[in-house]
Amino acid sequence: MEEVKILIIGAGCVGLAIGEYLSRSCDDVVIVEKEASYGRHTSSRNSEVIHSGIYYPQNSLKAELCIRGRELLYHYLAENNVAHRKCGKLVVAVSEPEIDALLELQANGICNGVTDLQILDVDQCKELAPEVKAVKGMLVPCTGIMDTHGFMRAMKINFEANDGFLLFDTEVTAIRKTAEGYLVTFNNGEQFLTETLINAAGLECETIAALTGIDTKAAGLKLHWCKAEYFKTTQKFQLDKLIYPMPDPTGMYLGIHLTLNLAGEVRFGPSAYYVDDLDYGMDEKYKQDFIDSVSQYLNIDPDKLHPDDTGIRPKLQAAGEGFRDFYIKEESHRGLPGFINLMGIESPGLTSCLAIARYVAEFI
Ligand SMILES: Cc1cc2nc3c(=O)[nH]c(=O)nc-3n(C[C@H](O)[C@H](O)[C@H](O)COP(=O)(O)OP(=O)(O)OC[C@H]3O[C@@H](n4cnc5c(N)ncnc54)[C@H](O)[C@@H]3O)c2cc1C
Repeated sequence: MEEVKILIIGAGCVGLAIGEYLSRSCDDVVIVEKEASYGRHTSSRNSEVIHSGIYYPQNSLKAELCIRGRELLYHYLAENNVAHRKCGKLVVAVSEPEIDALLELQANGICNGVTDLQILDVDQCKELAPEVKAVKGMLVPCTGIMDTHGFMRAMKINFEANDGFLLFDTEVTAIRKTAEGYLVTFNNGEQFLTETLINAAGLECETIAALTGIDTKAAGLKLHWCKAEYFKTTQKFQLDKLIYPMPDPTGMYLGIHLTLNLAGEVRFGPSAYYVDDLDYGMDEKYKQDFIDSVSQYLNIDPDKLHPDDTGIRPKLQAAGEGFRDFYIKEESHRGLPGFINLMGIESPGLTSCLAIARYVAEFI
């Protein structure tokens, strides 16, 4: 049996960010990952957008960590030569009734500390994005796009350079609280004893929490998987900004938006519907929904739409429920000192991950 100071479960962007940050000051940090490499789940199945922080309720962790994380992320990407572009985005109101919601969104963003938001009239929208149908728009200059895989690779390299230890093909199957800490068992039968255990298992975070003995349902920590699909288009547009419709009013998702990748390719998504299985297969029956949604703000050619990728959100928000924040807690209050539990790390988790790492470090 190995003894370590800090054991992190999961090598997505969140586990890697926590590991990389803690390994700067602690020489005994291990990340275990059940897959053969890092970032095989949500961290490589997302929009790769560096979010501004305008959407989340004031004083929420999502708002705080997104805004702090964005600044840290731009700095980290530049310092580590990871490709990214602060391209900005345009949020569009397509009808008069949406204008009030757009102005509310601007007010919320400003209260959260996103101060560079500009409201644009029809002509200004046309100038910026000629093909887009909008009666008003809001320019969000600090939004960007990034090479997520390059980012995770940089964190892995830095983590290992700090003597951090990353184990692949190592799935946590059992956790037992002992007087000395947590005895963690893996699928290969090996065991590690750790003082500090960090749950960064993404879509499996509820399973890990349950292995520590937490009754997730009673604790209000039941996880819901919410699937997302993307379509790529070969249609050409004169656009250099991301285009977002008004967000879904329940806060379930941001609406089917247009994103650009660093190669300039255009894709639409993500959609949102709850699922019971972890299946990344694409279901083309939703294509018409895509066309209907996007057509509200842009004329698209359906024949040029092609299925692209899918992802799954780890949501604490159940269908029909209102906003749920990130859950990041040291669980002493449940009799689990040294267990740091991260649940519901959905969007903007990529943007926030470097700030999440600093938030977690405060508990240690
Ligand atoms: C469709 C979609 C679009 C998104 N777009 C954006 C965006 O544009 N911008 C943004 O900021 N955020 C976005 N997000 C959110 C962001 O992608 C996530 O918040 C982030 O990737 C979560 O990272 P993670 O490390 O927590 O999870 P993951 O990447 O899922 O990593 C968890 C890891 O834990 C491992 N694991 C699980 N169980 C075990 C076990 N028992 N033992 C060992 N390892 C285990 C898994 O294999 C996995 O590698 C989006 C999410 C989705 C789904």
